[in-house]
Amino acid sequence: MPNNQRKGAAEGPSDRPEDSEPCVVIGAGPAGLTAAYELSKLGRRAVVLEADDIVGGLARTCEYKGYRFDVGGHRFFTKVSYVEELWREILGDELLVRPRLSRIHYRGKLFDYPLKPLNALRGLGVVESVFVVLSYLRALVLPFRRESTFEHWVRNRFGKRLFEVFFKTYTEKVWGIPCSEIGAEWASQRIKDLDLVVALRNALLGAARSKDGEVVTSLIEEFLYPRHGPGQMWTRCASLVEKAGGDVRLESPVVRLHHREGRIVDVVVRRPDGTEETVSGEQFLSSMPIGELALKLDPPPPEEVRKAARTLRYRDFITVALIVDRDELFTDNWIYIHSPTVRVGRIQNYKNWSPDMVADDTRTALGLEYFVQEGDELWTAPDEELVALGRREIVELGLASEGEITDGTVLRMKKAYPVYDGAYKSALRTLCTWMYDFENLQQIGRNGQHRYNNQDHAMMTGVLAARNVVGAEHDIWAVNVERDYHEQLREPAQRPAAEAAAGERLVPRRVGALSLERQLARAFGRYDPLALGGALGIIAGAVLWLATALIVVFTPQGQPVGPNLSLLGNYFLGYSASWGGAFVGLAEAAVGGFVGGWLLAQVINRLTAAELRRLLRRIERRSALGVLEGEHA
Ligand SMILES: Cc1cc2nc3c(=O)[nH]c(=O)nc-3n(C[C@H](O)[C@H](O)[C@H](O)COP(=O)(O)OP(=O)(O)OC[C@H]3O[C@@H](n4cnc5c(N)ncnc54)[C@H](O)[C@@H]3O)c2cc1C
Repeated sequence: MPNNQRKGAAEGPSDRPEDSEPCVVIGAGPAGLTAAYELSKLGRRAVVLEADDIVGGLARTCEYKGYRFDVGGHRFFTKVSYVEELWREILGDELLVRPRLSRIHYRGKLFDYPLKPLNALRGLGVVESVFVVLSYLRALVLPFRRESTFEHWVRNRFGKRLFEVFFKTYTEKVWGIPCSEIGAEWASQRIKDLDLVVALRNALLGAARSKDGEVVTSLIEEFLYPRHGPGQMWTRCASLVEKAGGDVRLESPVVRLHHREGRIVDVVVRRPDGTEETVSGEQFLSSMPIGELALKLDPPPPEEVRKAARTLRYRDFITVALIVDRDELFTDNWIYIHSPTVRVGRIQNYKNWSPDMVADDTRTALGLEYFVQEGDELWTAPDEELVALGRREIVELGLASEGEITDGTVLRMKKAYPVYDGAYKSALRTLCTWMYDFENLQQIGRNGQHRYNNQDHAMMTGVLAARNVVGAEHDIWAVNVERDYHEQLREPAQRPAAEAAAGERLVPRRVGALSLERQLARAFGRYDPLALGGALGIIAGAVLWLATALIVVFTPQGQPVGPNLSLLGNYFLGYSASWGGAFVGLAEAAVGGFVGGWLLAQVINRLTAAELRRLLRRIERRSALGVLEGEHA
């Protein structure tokens, strides 16, 4: 897969004759501004061209009558120490450490998020909890062997019932597609190794770790947040860029990019008065949506590339901001709305992100988030209707009364979420392959690379692209914020372009891209001995207790109680068909069931592993034969 590693970059800033030509950066979101900031540190001048009248992109902060609103709440959290250093360097003391609380609102009740099993079961009530436990046990014993969809992935870890209550509605609100059509890779990326057992362990032991010992992203309980919202970070960054001699031009959408002989020569921006201006540069970094970039190239790319550009899909986003005349509504930073009766997907309480987000601390500012499609009935509804909808839904959810909501406004954001559908990967490949040939163009950021990622990823692509401008050879498509880039930034990896071009790191891998061995290992699956032991233990204990209890209750007085069942006393020490015996039997059957299940899982796993090895050996022999006989895959 090609990347945008810069080719033919000069060695450093001082020996470059073209230094007078600026680097043109398209977009003043986190990626573009970080790139410009890094360029200024490297002694290069950047001209940032921004379509909107405000910086920050999706991480902007808007203001309405002194109240501040994010596009979604923006947590500043990263495992990449260089990104955190940048945040602190840019904002200093204005970066607050904030506690995280976010819960799920479902049918009038608030549930802890991340899910805490005991809390969830308590909230759902006894009957629903029994179904939840049974459906979890069913998932353990009869899991989906092939986890190809989001639904499979979650049901295997939480059971059908919990999936329906806590995952399905919200996910479908966000993405607008059934969970059975969303790829499993998304679940594993976002929910990581969290499952009911890990969550239970976390609830009991307080350990927020995955099976591999990694901190589970969903469980992070503190984050950094600028006093005046994420926009403060990007406004300050823009002013630092300008102080260093750069230029950040608002209301300057790039409408065309001219290219000649494999180089971008200049870009054309449309000014607010409708006139056009040409901006030339030596290097070009683009954080605008990659498909739009391709469609704005002049001369245009071949039809195949334009078709790929039109294939990429997005989810759009509306925030209905409401001001409520009450000093405290709920303690969460945000609430996920799972209730299927309302359209709103999530509600932000900005005052809980930072007290300075509100103009008047006797009031509260909420952001109701609607996940939409540009052009649909919500997107095209007039603002007053959307504010009215928001008011109705807040009242229906019981969070405030009609009379308390004093004011409201609406913010629409296009292309808030790049969609990973069945067609995106090949479209992206086509686009990248064709654009790889431009030696002075790099695509950075979320929509710039069509990656559903956070600010830290966007920023890292900007940092590495800036370094490529002065001679480094980073593969910006390989940025992975799951690991720390500190060392690589001190000593940039020298990756040959050919290797990067052949790499398959563009998007999260699908099963088809995994090695045969891993594919087979996945297809065969593994039983978790603790889980199977636990499941059989619970079932055996419960069955014996129930059978004994029923016999004790229903045996008429004076008659011998359960003579046949009492024979189990030969196997369970101290067991008899009595109330005392029911509890002795419960404990012993649970232990016996656990040991039996644990052993069974071990035996099945070993047999499966042996079968896997046998299959691999056969395949190896066959492919060796194939090579000898000139057979090609
Ligand atoms: C609801 C929501 C919640 C989020 N929560 C978090 C969070 O908690 N933590 C976190 O770290 N991240 C979060 N993110 C992700 C974060 O917003 C993005 O990762 C980040 O903004 C991406 O930065 P970017 O610069 O790549 O893209 P953008 O922010 O999209 O910036 C791109 C910029 O390019 C401009 N542009 C586009 N076309 C043109 C053109 N033709 N000419 C000139 N300019 C153009 C746009 O106007 C925009 O300003 C969230 C995102 C959303 C939507």
